[in-house]
Amino acid sequence: MKLRKVTAASATVLALALTVTACGGGDGDNESSSGAGGGKDKITIGIKFDQPGLGQKTPQGYEGFDVDVATYVAKKLGYEENQIEWKESKSADRETMLQRGDVDFIAATYSITPERQETVDFAGPYLLAHQDVLLRADDDKIKSPEDLNKAKLCSVTGSTSAQNVKEKLAPKAQLQPYPAYSACLPGLQNGAVDALTTDDSILAGYAAQDQFKGKFKLGGFKLTNENYGIGVKKGSDLKDKINKALEEMVADGSWDKAVKENFGPANYKNEPAPKIGDIKS
Ligand code: GLU
Repeated sequence: MKLRKVTAASATVLALALTVTACGGGDGDNESSSGAGGGKDKITIGIKFDQPGLGQKTPQGYEGFDVDVATYVAKKLGYEENQIEWKESKSADRETMLQRGDVDFIAATYSITPERQETVDFAGPYLLAHQDVLLRADDDKIKSPEDLNKAKLCSVTGSTSAQNVKEKLAPKAQLQPYPAYSACLPGLQNGAVDALTTDDSILAGYAAQDQFKGKFKLGGFKLTNENYGIGVKKGSDLKDKINKALEEMVADGSWDKAVKENFGPANYKNEPAPKIGDIKS
């Protein structure tokens, strides 16, 4: 698996180069942020930091499918890897971060929904996932989606996963909201909650982590369609450019390669690449 990183050394070299170019002025060389593609020296991208296989911050750098998709898109927009600044975009913060211009775009298991489209725009979709549940390996109580109604469930504030549980999937479940999915894992392990619910792509990554090997299983329920898009500020001209980049990523085989590298280790059986604009309801 490839690691994305900016080492302290390369950051220093970059900073020195910029200082020299600016004749020691140092005026705004590290300023962020909005308006990617406008000849800036860096691009700021929102990802998840705690989702192995998708977006994960490690001691070596950033890795996962979303990271690879974002890196490919950034390159097509004119930015090399060492010009990317990664920012954590928790589920509940994504629309606000885009509206405020904290990031140029977000690739963070971010489902395209009509509600979100009221405040932000999406390129894509670039992946189709499905909501599912992660259970303890020895669980014998939750065999169907209906069983969730008598369960203690955890999910994340601001996610479609939590909203779907409340509104349609299991309205009677006791739902415990967390700020991030990884925060639910200890509770699932020790029995404080019965299930963690979110996209199967994310859950497969957790189940395959070394420290959890053999401890968890996925329900395999395919509860919803989650069409992952790349979020941009409403009205941004980045949307069309990103759509073009995503089409190229599929056409030149980079999408398949990223899928294999990132989902292979967790044995996640992904859906085929979606067509741009084809949002499955
Ligand atoms: N894809 C879903 C969403 O956008 C769940 C995963 C997440 O919270 O990032 O809400």
